[in-house]
Formats: sequence, C-alpha cells, structure tokens
Amino acid sequence: MGHKLNQWCAQEIDSLRSRSLFHMPRVHETAPGARVSIGGRKVIQLSNNSYLGLATHPKVVAAARGALEKYGVGTGAVRPISGTMDLHVQCEERIARFKGVESALLFQSGFTANVGVVSTLTVEGDHIISDELNHASIIDGARLSKATRAVYKHKDYGNLRELLKEARGAKGIKGKILVVTDGVFSMDGDVADLKATADACEEFDAVPMVDDAHATGVLGKGGRGTVDEQHVHDRWALTVGTLSKAIPVVGGYFAGPKVVKEYLIAKARPFLFSCSAPPAVVAAVTACIDVMETEPQHLKNLWDNTRFFKEGLKSLGFNTGDSVTPITPVIIGQGAKAAKFSQTLFDNGVFATGIYFPMVAEEKSRIRTIVSAAHKREDLQEALDIFKKCGKELGLI
Ligand SMILES: *Cc1c(COP(=O)(O)O)cnc(C)c1O
Repeated sequence: MGHKLNQWCAQEIDSLRSRSLFHMPRVHETAPGARVSIGGRKVIQLSNNSYLGLATHPKVVAAARGALEKYGVGTGAVRPISGTMDLHVQCEERIARFKGVESALLFQSGFTANVGVVSTLTVEGDHIISDELNHASIIDGARLSKATRAVYKHKDYGNLRELLKEARGAKGIKGKILVVTDGVFSMDGDVADLKATADACEEFDAVPMVDDAHATGVLGKGGRGTVDEQHVHDRWALTVGTLSKAIPVVGGYFAGPKVVKEYLIAKARPFLFSCSAPPAVVAAVTACIDVMETEPQHLKNLWDNTRFFKEGLKSLGFNTGDSVTPITPVIIGQGAKAAKFSQTLFDNGVFATGIYFPMVAEEKSRIRTIVSAAHKREDLQEALDIFKKCGKELGLI
C-alpha cells in the first residue's frame, strides 16, 4: 500500500516538475533582514513579509526572552481548557486597541483565523461572496461552511452588486450574506476598495469582512490597516489578520465586535481544538505593537523604500502590474521563464521568488518582490542593477 502511494506521489511530482510547478523551499541560515544567507550564499532578500524589519528588533527579542524565562516554552493546552495565559488576554486587548475595534481573538495563524471565522459565522441558508483573488484560507473556510458560495471578479464591485442582487432575489437567500475580501492582494499588491464594498453590503444587508494580512503594519495611520486607511471604521464588521508579516512572529487574529468574539470562543474549531500560541510568541507580538506605536520611522522607511524600488523597476521597463504597496510583482508570463529569471537573479545575488500556478494564473507567472524597512538604499540600488543585468541577459527588457 505504502509502495503504491509512493509511486503515485513520484508520478505527480514528475508531472508538476515537467510544468515547472515543483519547487523545493530554499533554506535560510540567518534571521529575516535585508541581506540573508541561503544555502551558504549571501543574497539581498526581496521575498520576505517582515515589512517593518521587526524580527530582530531588540525590544521584541527581549520581550520573547522574558516570556520564555517566566512562562516556559508552551502552554500545554488549547485555549478553552488551560491554554489561556494573561499574555494572551493582554495581546488581544492590544490588537483590539490598535485596530480600533471592540475586541480581538488570537488564532494559531492567519490561515486558521480565516478558516475559523468564515466557517463558523456562516451556516446553512447563508451565503458567502468572495473576491476571485482572495487568499486560499478564505476559500478553504468557505468550503468548510454549509453556506452557499459565489465569487466576484477581482475588485469588480458592479459584479459584486449583481451577485448580491441575485442572492437576495433569484437565489432567495434569507440568511446572512458574508462578503469577504483581502485588504491588500498578496500576489499583485493592489488594494480592495472598502467603501465600494461597504456600499454594496449596506444596500443588500450583507456583512463585510476584510483579511488585512498584508495591510496591517503597512497601510493606514501607524499601520492600522485598510479599514483605517479608507475611513470605514463605523461601516465595517469583521477583520482578520496575521501575526506573521509586518508583525513577523506567527499567529492570526479576529478583530471586531465583542459578541462575535464570544461566539467564536464557543464555536470556532481551530480555537477549540488546537493548542494556543506559546508565551514567547504572544509577548513578541505585543512588543511589536508597542514598537509600531512608538517608532514611526520603520513605516516611513518602508514607504520610502517602496517608492524608490517600484519606480526603479518600472523605469527599467518591467511589467509591474497595478501594485500600490510594498509588494511589486514583475510579471513574466510562462512559469518556466519566471523560474529561469528567479534562478538567474539568485545566481547574481538577489533572492526574489517566482510565483506560479496555482498561486496565480498559469500565464501570469511572475517574480514577486517585497521591500522592507530594513533595506538600505545601497541594497535596493544593487538589486535594481542585478534586475537590469539579468533582465537584459534573458531578453525580458
Ligand atoms: C499570509 C496570508 C494569510 C495567512 O497568514 P498566516 O499567518 O501565514 O497563516 C492569510 N491571508 C492573506 C491575505 C495572507 O496574505
């Protein structure tokens, strides 16, 4: 039996490899930062989500160390049994205050937060409407729900209204309708229009939810996210976020009304059935929020770097799509070509991963670059020079 399974895996991998869809992760030997060591090579890092460069911030590291020494390495239980420490409660209060909402609830990751929130808050007779480029964890949450589902064209709010109208009309949905969107779309770096989303939701009595994974720490006042940036606080119901990007630790959270949090505490399966975050993790997250509130220079550096690098790539003649955030894609087309470009960049000293199907459409394979506050101008200028050299070499520019 095992033998057959192994054979099947090998065949599937061969098939993926023949389409340039099989990639083993590169192994890093250093902390996230502007320059890292990968497989013994020093390269400029352009593929990391730690936007503000906080993974090695002394206050964050000290907070993690302090918690580790006081509370040990793990909680030993799920949250509802004996896995809730004062650290978890304090962290949730900090997240809620930072996001400007009534309450927050920690999850083990952004992935489980989406799966938990989407699948728990909708039941049979409800309906979920989702942007076609939403994150996989939103899609999986919707698949676990007993609600019916529909997908609107990317950021096409006319299409969203049509689907809402159809749901309340022809489909006869009497229950709740959840409209879900990423705040910043992770593969393109474009931003959802939350005003248009809220307008449509209000017209058809639907509940708006945003996944602010790539927006928290990046957009809005002090990095408070898209709801803050687009001034829709009093029109917005639900936010989900991650603690693995600008806050570069691990974990996820729900942010919204207290009564919704309480319902999730009673029902959300990842909360109920999977162990809570280790104390050092939670303390580090709280410290990151402290740093974000007291050291605005990181956010300023991030955006200075973003403008410099995006302009640089554009003026070299690359197709950088519609990004307005620190994520800048370099759209290549064919997967094999993107893979070749990524490898050539790496050989020349830049780590920028290729992104392929199923993360993006097969003919929209790309290199995705992400700058951070940790990059110095010299790092980015050197990276641009390498993009130029490699792009010319491969006939891309
Ligand atoms: C990264 C990401 C997630 C997953 O977050 P993790 O904490 O890494 O599980 C969810 N949603 C979006 C939009 C993301 O970009």
